[in-house]
Amino acid sequence: MDPIYMDHHATTPLDARVLDAMMPYLTHEYGNASSRTHPWGWHAEEAVDAARQQVAAALNCRPDEVVFTGGATESNNLAIKGVAAAYRDRGKRHIVTTKVEHSAVREPCQTLEGQGFAVTYLDVDRFGMVDPDDVRSAITDETALISVIWAHNEIGTIQPLAEIGRIASDAGVLLHTDGVQAFAKYDSDVERLGVDLIALSAHKICGPKGVGALYVRKRRPRIRMTAQIEGGGQERKLRSGTLNVPGIVGLGKAVELYGECRDDERRRVTGLRDRLRDAILGSVDFVHLNGHPTERLYNNLNLSFEFVESESLLMALRGIALSSGSACTSASMESSSALLAIGMDDSLAHSAVRFGVGRANTADEVDAVAAAVVDAVARQRELSPLYAMKRQGVDVMATE
Ligand SMILES: *Cc1c(COP(=O)(O)O)cnc(C)c1O
Repeated sequence: MDPIYMDHHATTPLDARVLDAMMPYLTHEYGNASSRTHPWGWHAEEAVDAARQQVAAALNCRPDEVVFTGGATESNNLAIKGVAAAYRDRGKRHIVTTKVEHSAVREPCQTLEGQGFAVTYLDVDRFGMVDPDDVRSAITDETALISVIWAHNEIGTIQPLAEIGRIASDAGVLLHTDGVQAFAKYDSDVERLGVDLIALSAHKICGPKGVGALYVRKRRPRIRMTAQIEGGGQERKLRSGTLNVPGIVGLGKAVELYGECRDDERRRVTGLRDRLRDAILGSVDFVHLNGHPTERLYNNLNLSFEFVESESLLMALRGIALSSGSACTSASMESSSALLAIGMDDSLAHSAVRFGVGRANTADEVDAVAAAVVDAVARQRELSPLYAMKRQGVDVMATE
């Protein structure tokens, strides 16, 4: 069997049309967008301006509210540390976030805790959803920023951002979101979403790696932000460094392509994801759907197979690119904090597998993946006495 890529939350293949758009800037149009005195510089600057407009169109914001970065990790760091640094001297030393954030949000928040900030990590329900009322209750006079992930990269849950946005703006607090997994796939109008800052990444939407952007609201309210990378003063001094012109062009093109195909792709990929889910759930017992049943990314499926270690399952399925629910740090096996936050016990968390369907996947691939998973789960369970007992109706928990 040919290898099948179904790990599109980790990264996506570069769309050929995106590469075509980037190609001139990887070859003969190699100018520095800051060079103001010759055609190479002018062409590079024009290309960056065009990409900025493409991204701004998707966000329904002004082009000068888009700051290009080296990816969403950097965008999240700039948003959180940049706002914290600008507001700390005004007595704003509190941040509200959740227990299901990506490490690119969680770690900067932890760093700020070490610098005298208080951080509230909100619980989520068993579907991974934040309660907007909890956000309201967590806000104090000192709250500078609320940061809530838009759509989860493991369990796919989509948060009620618009409602949280209304609470934030009523309280005069800024709302940031890690928008990586939903941006461009879903309507990303910042007014509708009610957000003041949004981090996005090109390589999750069929663009190139190492480039992203941060939306920074300029009016009502105008956000104050302290640069985290200083130097040549690019990007309105918020992010110095020679612009990655080919990458930025690729980001713009990737966003434009989603604008053209959004509804079609959503329909098609939802169909493939549902086909995969139904095929697996129809043939495997003792399997759990993780994340929200309806409010979830249309390309995401996350399942826990009882009596199966996801790491061994993925070893058996080496020809298929999937992801487990565990963060495999060099020495230890840590359960994903998101799976623990939705109340899953350690063993079920170690049984979680994430499927991420993408633009290029086909129904044949979905069928092949479903068949291989069903088969591999059955083989793993042949080795499990607990599974045999459970099938015979023995109360496994009591026996343990
Ligand atoms: C991939 C991802 C990131 C990191 O983005 P990079 O551009 O790779 O730095 C951040 N947040 C979420 C939710 C992601 O899925």
